[in-house]
Amino acid sequence: MKLPFKILKMLAETALDFVFPRYCLLCGKINPKGEYEHLCPECEVSLRILKGARCTLCSEPIGPESMPNIHGCPKCIDRKFQFDKSFCLCAFDGAAREMVHELKYRTGAHIVRDMAKVAKKFPELADYIRNAVLVPIPLHAAKALKRRYNQSDLIASMLVKTFPESNAKIRKILRRTRKTATQTTLDRESRADNVKDAFALAKAKSAETLPKNTNIVLVDDVMTSGATLSECAKILKKSGFKSVSAFAFARRL
Ligand SMILES: [Zn+2]
Ligand SMILES: [Zn+2]
Repeated sequence: MKLPFKILKMLAETALDFVFPRYCLLCGKINPKGEYEHLCPECEVSLRILKGARCTLCSEPIGPESMPNIHGCPKCIDRKFQFDKSFCLCAFDGAAREMVHELKYRTGAHIVRDMAKVAKKFPELADYIRNAVLVPIPLHAAKALKRRYNQSDLIASMLVKTFPESNAKIRKILRRTRKTATQTTLDRESRADNVKDAFALAKAKSAETLPKNTNIVLVDDVMTSGATLSECAKILKKSGFKSVSAFAFARRL
């Protein structure tokens, strides 16, 4: 007797949940049955997906989806971002914050599957990264060694896999030149100072081979003041790249 594929898949998933139980990131509920692998339907409501109109420069939400996007808003009017535009998927609070923390601090590489589900809600992302070179924001070597992976690398890979039609590829052409304090406790000005001149082109994987009109998209987990992404964009613009934009999974509002 041939079991339909759907039933086989369900059986396999049930067996997998039994051996490797999943937990809701917020309430700890075992093997949640919602849309996401690591969020139960009750906690899913705290995932604030930024689907409405936004400022395409700083990704600030500005109104409902029926409104057109704007480029430059009251929040970013006095900012001198070095990137041309930015794209963020959710607000950095509730479930999104837990997803990022799980990925970053709790060796939660499995969480990118849920991040991919969020990314799929933005079909326009395929255009945003079309033929792009994705450049993950690098960690300092000491931190990378401790964490064993860079969360921005994983998010960049997630984008490539989620939108194969975009023909985007990843090139790690930046490196951190010095250790920086964590940005989380700093105010906007201190954040800019903290990351100033903290990046350079990676020597081993030089950007020399890339045409200067390449669509470069910097990839980070969270965009807060935009200081880190802007500092990285500055390095790339200085080395002659014409189009440098930013992507972050979450945006601190
Ligand atoms: Zn829950
Ligand atoms: Zn703005």
